[in-house]
Amino acid sequence: MSTQVQFPVRSGFYKTLRQRVRSELEQAGLSERDAWQMYAKTAFIVTLATVSYIQLVFVASTLTEALIWGFLLAQSHVMIGFDVMHDGGHGAYSRHRWVNAFMGHLLDLIGGNQRLWHFKHNIRHHTYTNIDGLDEDLETGGILRLSPGQPRKWWHRAQAWYAFPVYALLSLYWVFFSDFKEYLTRRVGQLPIDPPTMKDRLIFWGGKAFYFGYALVLPSFFHPFTHVLAAFVGIHVVLGFSLALVFQLAHTVEETDFPEPDAGAMPDEWAVHQLRTTADFARHNPLVSFYVGGLNFQVEHHLFSKICHVRYPRISRVVKETCQEYGVPYHESPSVLAAIRSHLRFLHTLGQPERA
Ligand SMILES: [Zn+2]
Repeated sequence: MSTQVQFPVRSGFYKTLRQRVRSELEQAGLSERDAWQMYAKTAFIVTLATVSYIQLVFVASTLTEALIWGFLLAQSHVMIGFDVMHDGGHGAYSRHRWVNAFMGHLLDLIGGNQRLWHFKHNIRHHTYTNIDGLDEDLETGGILRLSPGQPRKWWHRAQAWYAFPVYALLSLYWVFFSDFKEYLTRRVGQLPIDPPTMKDRLIFWGGKAFYFGYALVLPSFFHPFTHVLAAFVGIHVVLGFSLALVFQLAHTVEETDFPEPDAGAMPDEWAVHQLRTTADFARHNPLVSFYVGGLNFQVEHHLFSKICHVRYPRISRVVKETCQEYGVPYHESPSVLAAIRSHLRFLHTLGQPERA
């Protein structure tokens, strides 16, 4: 599919919504970026990552201690992804470019690559959300059928059963395979990406060397390699599963749509497209909001990706009311569990031969 997909000209809906969101924050005396909560949260998460790593590699002497610190290290990496680098990568963390760049590049320290993420996430996923062949997040190489436009295979009948173990492999797939493939072929899916500059090359290879150095090589001087490998894989299982699941709960549930272009033209303007293809979950659960970096407010995130995630609970009421006023969908699940159930029903339905 060509990337020459066009959305219709914007009507007044998005303009009105933007004005209302802006005045909601202004009236509350809140800035769109540089929230002190983000700096405090980042300090907490980075400290947790550092302490957990030191404890796991240099201090823990029993299996129980290793499991506890390994679990906390995995959680800190999940939160670096959700809560810190994601905002930085979107330019939503700070009004200063260097702060956003610094936070975004934390991904390079935990095994990923910020530049490739930018092409995959900022460009493909955020522009072409749930459009088959263009939204990279729907691609699983045929293992799962995540949209009605993808070919149905016999094994998809059982996909609701094996999807979770597949999600657990996501970050291992990134760090060992897809980052290298995309970097070397200079393509993300079908989309060619700009050739890397010298700085990009240094960050890519330096980041990978640093990550594999501290995650696999250094611990091997202190522990048997099989133990190091087990911890490494265990941490990635938690990381990959968490990242994949949050994406799925926001885009591949029963409520969301998979609009298709007609001769390159999409049926709805961009903002309405985002609302049709995206869902919130557990909006009233502050613990979930803290943990997933506001990505349970995925609707607000897709509409206002340059506003820091700590502001999403505040603006969500305005977004919902404006959607209702304009007759535009606002999808949400009341809890994480309800969203998981909806996702599993979606997978099951899409995998059956006679439906969808
Ligand atoms: Zn995003």
